[in-house]
Amino acid sequence: MIEEINPEAVNQEKSADDTEGEKNGNTQRIKQTGQRRYFRKNGNKRYFTRFRKEQDKYEQLNLNGKSVSVIVPLYNEEDSLVELSVALKKVLDRLKVNWEVYFVDDGSTDSSFSKLREINRVNNRFKCIRFKRNYGKSAALQAGFDAAKGDYVITMDADLQDDPEEIPALLKKLNEGYDLVSGWKKVRKDPFIKKFSSRIFNFFTSLMVGLRLHDYNCGLKAYVREAVKNIRVYGEMHRYIPAIAHLSGFRVTEIAVSHYERKYGKTKFGVSRFFNGFFDLVTLIFTTRYIKRPLHLFGFLGIISFTCGSAIILYLTILKFFEATPISGRPLFFVGILLAIVGLQFFSIGLIGEMITKTNQDKDFYIIDKTL
Ligand code: UDP
Ligand code: MG
Repeated sequence: MIEEINPEAVNQEKSADDTEGEKNGNTQRIKQTGQRRYFRKNGNKRYFTRFRKEQDKYEQLNLNGKSVSVIVPLYNEEDSLVELSVALKKVLDRLKVNWEVYFVDDGSTDSSFSKLREINRVNNRFKCIRFKRNYGKSAALQAGFDAAKGDYVITMDADLQDDPEEIPALLKKLNEGYDLVSGWKKVRKDPFIKKFSSRIFNFFTSLMVGLRLHDYNCGLKAYVREAVKNIRVYGEMHRYIPAIAHLSGFRVTEIAVSHYERKYGKTKFGVSRFFNGFFDLVTLIFTTRYIKRPLHLFGFLGIISFTCGSAIILYLTILKFFEATPISGRPLFFVGILLAIVGLQFFSIGLIGEMITKTNQDKDFYIIDKTL
């Protein structure tokens, strides 16, 4: 069986260019060709390819003095925090940039906050915002977005399911000119039901939003500062951040990232996630596409419904006069009346919507890219 060996074990070895076989514990290096190093462990042949890539991904990344903020929303994740901050520091230090990490404690009831206080005491680049109660992941992300000072902003979950080692790859993509890079848990370590429902969710969201992503709801994402300062998330809208960004005109893409099983504690989202998701999508489409022109949506629906209703009533009226057939008992009669009334109602809702928009006109609904 061929499989990858833990990069730590390899990095501890002596020389990067050494192609001689050598002993490291019970692992024996056999040879190296290009970026590949071949090992033998307990007699089985295995290979390892990541060694050179590991180094390259930091060397190739030119961040030009940009600063990086990492936002970590968390709710009762006491066991993961120290491990996560150690892993984060290791990656962020290697980027050779000015960095900060914002842990947003979303009203944890376990010892998460005292862990964070300790982490902050040791290194004050790790900051913490603590909520009075549990407001949800979206609110936690928003608090982080408001506080973040970096040119590039990373968000990730606190449960060690996301890998900080993916940060350089995400930043590289931002450097290519994207505004938001979303992680794609290509090989996902979650229960089947979650993977299955998320496939359906991603399919429908892609269809309605017009942006094909495999994974809208990955905790690991990277943003340019401008995106973070212009996106507002509330309720459970964090699932749709790439959609909000895309509909606002930002350039969105995704890259495959590694994903791990939850190490400690359990998931914070129960069955309710399946129900709320759909309503959120409707709200999203409505508020981004039609918020400034409600009559465009409701007027359209109203006219279709009213026209169908009127046509039916007209048809029945003609029948009554020319063929003298009674029409009041026919189901079609009620359908016609219903459609006509519903059509008028849609129209009125649209008009009321327009009035509300008119009184709210001072609020910006556009994002300026550049001015000359
Ligand atoms: N989370 C949060 N507030 C909540 C629920 C979750 O800040 O009300 C955090 C949680 O601590 C974790 C991240 O959001 O860091 C993702 O949550 P979880 O791992 O439970 O979601 P899953 O991976 O199961 O989708
Ligand atoms: Mg998780």
